[in-house]
Amino acid sequence: MKNLYTSDLTKSTYDAIIIGSGVGGLTTAVCLAKSGKKVLVLEKHYAIGGFTHTFKRKKFEWDVGAHYIGQVNNPTSLIRKAFDYITNSKLQWDDMGDIYDQAIIEGETYNFKKGLQNQIDQMIAYFPNDEQAIFKTNHSRSIK
Ligand SMILES: Cc1cc2nc3c(=O)[nH]c(=O)nc-3n(C[C@H](O)[C@H](O)[C@H](O)COP(=O)(O)OP(=O)(O)OC[C@H]3O[C@@H](n4cnc5c(N)ncnc54)[C@H](O)[C@@H]3O)c2cc1C
Repeated sequence: MKNLYTSDLTKSTYDAIIIGSGVGGLTTAVCLAKSGKKVLVLEKHYAIGGFTHTFKRKKFEWDVGAHYIGQVNNPTSLIRKAFDYITNSKLQWDDMGDIYDQAIIEGETYNFKKGLQNQIDQMIAYFPNDEQAIFKTNHSRSIK
């Protein structure tokens, strides 16, 4: 890959240098910048965003990573507050609908339903013999 960084970057001083412009790096950079720090973010890829960026081939568009995020429908959730803070509340969210994902395994379709209890009920309907394990796994989490 060609070297995109220039030596001009070393002529300034920074309070923090962040390697990588994924959501983690950019979140940290924004928090530091908002608290008055001078921040340099270095990214080796030609597009910023890490696993949040998208790319196009002909008429199709792909998400390389993140395609949905939980809990952001709740304005009081920590993750929603964090996104509101780093984007000055400019990031808009769309509802994924009642079925937010599907797994197709050996021709069988498994729907992933919005809402923890809905998802537990759905998984138990698919795998009735594993009810105890599904229940135990989900109730040991602290998702509200
Ligand atoms: C296929 C897939 C689907 C996913 N789906 C979801 C989802 O639906 N919902 C969800 O919440 N999460 C999802 N995730 C997880 C989520 O995308 C990641 O947890 C999150 O994006 C990671 O962010 P990050 O900043 O830690 O790292 P990254 O996004 O990986 O960013 C790291 C950045 O650092 C750069 N970098 C690395 N080394 C250097 C270097 N030496 N110099 C300069 N730059 C460098 C990389 O190029 C990259 O841009 C998914 C992940 C994958 C792989």
